[in-house]
Amino acid sequence: MRFEGKVVLVTGGARGIGRAVTEKFHAAGASVAIVGRNEEAAKTLATELSARGAKCIGYGCDVSNGAAIDAMVDSVVKDFGKLDVLVNNAGVTQDGLVVRMSDDAWNNVIQTNLTGAFQLLRAVARIMLRARTGCIVNVSSVVGLIGNAGQANYCAAKAGLIGLTKSAAREFAPRGVRVNAIAPGMIETDMTAKLNDEQKKSLLTGVPLARAGAVGDIANAVAFLASDDASYITGQVLSVDGGMAM
Ligand code: NAP
Repeated sequence: MRFEGKVVLVTGGARGIGRAVTEKFHAAGASVAIVGRNEEAAKTLATELSARGAKCIGYGCDVSNGAAIDAMVDSVVKDFGKLDVLVNNAGVTQDGLVVRMSDDAWNNVIQTNLTGAFQLLRAVARIMLRARTGCIVNVSSVVGLIGNAGQANYCAAKAGLIGLTKSAAREFAPRGVRVNAIAPGMIETDMTAKLNDEQKKSLLTGVPLARAGAVGDIANAVAFLASDDASYITGQVLSVDGGMAM
């Protein structure tokens, strides 16, 4: 899979799964717009990667702020001249049992993980539909498929992303724009480092392959869905979860 001449936008692209996705595309020849709340981290990684391959630029953007998203996408298109792939990866958790969950915890997670992803997809789709080509990969989660006690806000957002993926795939297919989702299982990142040993052990009992995944496992699947090898695949959810949901 090669991406020479392609421009890829990765949200949350400087850390965790997003960083592995950024590095995967860049190693395959792509230019990457690295987006995160932490502008310095995005810019530092962009400088590091640009020094050994295609141009990368870091952008500070909080995806829970719709106006900031539109401005950031305008800058990316101005800087790179086009946009071929969007990876909607940025995400947060704010866990709690349903009966104790505050409206703030609900709204924050829905705003970042679902509304932000929608607003970015909408902004990027306007460019891709005009160009009659492009590819969007939304990073959902296994818990968007099967639910998880203590994560109603997160699971609702991730399930919502799947509905968004399928609807957008149907709308955009006539213009050659594909939209798919990845549903990662338990992947070792800062997000899962917050879990205690007991929680990790209990999650792993539900994984047939009996281990957590690595960020590279997700990056490989994202790159596949964005590549020409997947040119007949749209509206799908690819589980990369060691067999957790089947
Ligand atoms: P992580 O290590 O906590 O990283 C989260 C990333 O999202 C960071 O790059 C962060 O950027 C970015 N981000 C968060 N809020 C943002 C906002 N408002 N605006 C812009 N960027 C924001 O998490 P991860 O494990 O890599 O997760 C990446 C994606 O995979 C998420 O959507 C997550 O839900 C999903 N996922 C993860 C797992 C897992 O087991 N790890 C499983 C299923 C799905 P900054 O550093 O700039 O804040």
